[in-house]
Amino acid sequence: MSRHFSLQSDALETTTPPSILNDVFGPTMIGPSSSHTGAAYRIGRLCLDLLDGRITGLTARYNRGTALAETHVGQGTDRGLYGAILGWDIVDPRMEKLDEEIRQELVNAGIEVEVLYPDLGETHASFYDLTVGNGLEEHRVEAVSTGGGMFKILRIDEAPVVIEGDMFETLVFCADDTCASDTCAENTTPPGETLEAHLHRTFEGDRVTLCRSDRAVFLRIQSETALDPSVLETLRRRSDVRSIKVLEPVLPTLSRHHLQLPFLTASGMLKYLRETGEDLELWQLALRYESARGGASEAEVWKRMEDVARLMRRSIEHGLAGTDYADRLLPAHAPLAQSAIERGVVPNDAVTHMILYTTAIMDSKSAMGVFVAAPTAGSCGTTPGAIFGLADFHGLAENQIVRALLAAGLIGVFIASGSTFSAELAGCMAETGASGAMAAAGLVTLQGGNLHQALTASGVTIETGLGLICDMVADRVEAPCLAKNIAGVMRAHGAALTALMDFRAVIPIDEAIQAMDRVGRLMPDSVCCTGGEGLCATCTGRHLHRQMVELPVSARPPGSLLPTSHEVREQTSYRLNPGTRAPG
Ligand code: SF4
Repeated sequence: MSRHFSLQSDALETTTPPSILNDVFGPTMIGPSSSHTGAAYRIGRLCLDLLDGRITGLTARYNRGTALAETHVGQGTDRGLYGAILGWDIVDPRMEKLDEEIRQELVNAGIEVEVLYPDLGETHASFYDLTVGNGLEEHRVEAVSTGGGMFKILRIDEAPVVIEGDMFETLVFCADDTCASDTCAENTTPPGETLEAHLHRTFEGDRVTLCRSDRAVFLRIQSETALDPSVLETLRRRSDVRSIKVLEPVLPTLSRHHLQLPFLTASGMLKYLRETGEDLELWQLALRYESARGGASEAEVWKRMEDVARLMRRSIEHGLAGTDYADRLLPAHAPLAQSAIERGVVPNDAVTHMILYTTAIMDSKSAMGVFVAAPTAGSCGTTPGAIFGLADFHGLAENQIVRALLAAGLIGVFIASGSTFSAELAGCMAETGASGAMAAAGLVTLQGGNLHQALTASGVTIETGLGLICDMVADRVEAPCLAKNIAGVMRAHGAALTALMDFRAVIPIDEAIQAMDRVGRLMPDSVCCTGGEGLCATCTGRHLHRQMVELPVSARPPGSLLPTSHEVREQTSYRLNPGTRAPG
């Protein structure tokens, strides 16, 4: 229960509603986990901006016993954070390097990194307490990852803020704590105007807030576009300004000060249709929503969804071509599926194509290929695997795929606004449970079903995924993740078919999402991405953990680490993820 307490506090209050292109389909990335690698990368980029593009020292404090402390290496937090402070793009080929090679890059760049595991007294499962410096200055950044690559910076230099990376953030650090009082007025125009008042007047239309702690005082300007550099230059010359930091947005869809959304839930959407008298499909409503959310035209949203579809197609092709990567648990499985289909061992039908494509995407991700988190890295295979697999088998056009993805994306919005995509908070129910629900709406849309059938299929898929735990083996987002992605596709496929047969859902989808959220709150930490319990705590799971987490790639035995038989492995006293709990 404690895991959720923080989410309800003021500091973590959601300030912006979900965007299909930010929260549901994205980030586009390399690495094992969106909530670890993707969010860590974004937090790291903002830290780099805070230090004017140069960091030479990082101290990361992860709260002892939490998912982040236990899995930051295997789940790619280090990869994301270090890649960001090295100044790499998240899809830079260097992000594919082995962990030990990335650590060497830090040494080569003169960046010292220290990771500590104190008891921070924080309850959130993915709480970052980072101190970054460059010899000239040092800042402390406290943040949380909230799932699917989304994050919130909660404090800078101990002053409360909520920064989500979807606006331009200009921080004007005051020379002393007088910026809100007229004692700093001697060099101002008009005379007697405080720095705070000056910024309010100069940046009328933007949001200006005074942020204060014992350690720092700064004025935060949130704007929809970058501020005029010449105005900032003039500000820098003021004696009451110590420094100015410009934190550029790290999300593709920006937020706005006065957002007006047509709806945020499925029931709100149905009410919207009743009130407007329009007869729209789910994909059209997705365009309507995202256009309002991001301030872009529906044509622009469509175009951006086409880009997402192209990236997904590339992942499938990469996986189908066969992948190789030294530091992975599962060998490539897509070639096995492809061969079985070709040899007639399994039917050459839509179902096997959906499995093949889902596997290809997961293989590509595990081999450090570029992929789209949909909605997370762990569940990135389900939605595109199902939609592209079915569409390609039936030879459907790309625009039908884009429509299906939009429909899936809107279901993702309903889930994100009513619950979470974070396995740290709600187990795999929030990952492959959510992606399955999204896939179901996509499959109904592809097969010509209507809006009500799509909602039914998604709702039923959520219902059949309630309680799914996160128990990834050896801290790798590979097993049982691949199997859970495929299971998500199968549940989605079944739900889509029965919805097309006009089976009725007993529970409306919004209530199913509420149930998902409540069940998530009841799940113990040990089954929420901490490597505490479940398959990861079996004898074989613990053996693989020892091989994968404790040994560098060069020290591992040659060949596959996977067991070759079903004989039960001998009990050992090896303790999994020291700091959480010792299994059995
Ligand atoms: S078990 Fe599920 S939630 Fe956990 S890492 Fe794998 S896909 Fe993600």
